[in-house]
Amino acid sequence: MSIMQNLISKGSRALVVFSGGQDSTTCLFWAKKHFEEVYTITFGYGQKHSAEVECAKKIAKDAGVPFHYMDLSFISGLSKNSLTDHDMVMDSEKPADSAPNTFVPGRNLFFLSIAAVYARELGIKDIVTGVSETDYSGYPDCRDSFIKSLNVTLNLAMEEQFVIHTPLMWIDKAQTWQLADELGAFDVVRNETLTCYNGIKGDGCGHCPACKLRKHGLEQYQSLRDSANCF
Ligand code: ZN
Repeated sequence: MSIMQNLISKGSRALVVFSGGQDSTTCLFWAKKHFEEVYTITFGYGQKHSAEVECAKKIAKDAGVPFHYMDLSFISGLSKNSLTDHDMVMDSEKPADSAPNTFVPGRNLFFLSIAAVYARELGIKDIVTGVSETDYSGYPDCRDSFIKSLNVTLNLAMEEQFVIHTPLMWIDKAQTWQLADELGAFDVVRNETLTCYNGIKGDGCGHCPACKLRKHGLEQYQSLRDSANCF
């Protein structure tokens, strides 16, 4: 085996928790910039729109990274929420005293715990997730304190030294678009990802909470970029 092959086989490797949406796709390209080898894991959790799994598969293929799908649809049977329950009308905004009904309790806890077990099997210590406290939509499992706490728990649970990376934790949606652009992934994120709660790829339906957040960030970023280009 040549020295080069040794260097490559000993290179840094990361596992991205990958949904095929704007945030995790930006994280995929962030990981490709920072690690020599990148793997993805995508979960089915009984979501109404399985089209996002197809988007994830295509993006991973085009990016040249392995795609691993795992079915966790039991999650949809654990609680009532509007992302998995076809009869429930989605909250258009966060209620004052609770998480919106688009919150899937335990989702990130399950995702990251299972991702860590899978990472361990692959001999990977670096795990990347696209959660953000800045635009966290009232989801408690997107907050930094939860991620740090779970990171410690996973290390204790498996006697490992996992590092959970959260490149989007302290940036908003406009800055997430900027990051995608800087990573050369603006068009992929704009056209190939699925963030919309109504299952429409790219710019989506335009009126669900996820589309509103994404669109607002995009418009903010584009106006900043355009005004910077004027000088
Ligand atoms: Zn939408």
